[in-house]
Amino acid sequence: MDSEKKESLAVVCINCGHPVTELYRKYGESVIKMTICANCNQIADKYIEFEPVVILIDLVLLTKSAYRHILFNGYFKNFWKLFIILVLMESYMKWMNLPAAKNNQESEKNFYICGIWILGENFLFFCILRGSVGIFEYFLKRSASTLPGRAENLSLLLWKGIILASLGKFLFVPIVIWQDNSSAFALQIHSMLVMGYFLLSLICSCSG
Ligand SMILES: [Zn+2]
Repeated sequence: MDSEKKESLAVVCINCGHPVTELYRKYGESVIKMTICANCNQIADKYIEFEPVVILIDLVLLTKSAYRHILFNGYFKNFWKLFIILVLMESYMKWMNLPAAKNNQESEKNFYICGIWILGENFLFFCILRGSVGIFEYFLKRSASTLPGRAENLSLLLWKGIILASLGKFLFVPIVIWQDNSSAFALQIHSMLVMGYFLLSLICSCSG
């Protein structure tokens, strides 16, 4: 009962971030009534009726409510899998840009080194972000984890937010495909645009 109560308190209105006790109420087998947020008077979470592909499109369009749905109300449990795919993709990108190895063994070793390097980079980035939040908490004299709707561990929430924002890094894939037919300048512009999109996603994801 306690765990059920705790789970129900963890959901929020995706429009204003205000905590709500439930997202919908069931009346019979096929009738549900969506919860209206007491703070903004809108449907607390319209996405619970949407197809995943619609939510994905809204994530790509940097819709803040879609980020809130996934991070606070969603039942997406595959963050670890997504994280592994992202690390493998970034490792591959780094490995592709290395000078040609002398043999297959060296090439394989280089890939593992790239993987460890990317893991280290991601960990460092997370530490910097968590540290920045800690500094804000210190100066504002308020813990972000006690803000409405932040029942989950803040570090875990930040980690999920970074992974969600990193979806934009899949736009690096065309670089691998086009790199032989593009100039170094065009590839640099492409990389900068992807990183800019990643930063915007990160702001959208972590400011909820
Ligand atoms: Zn609201």
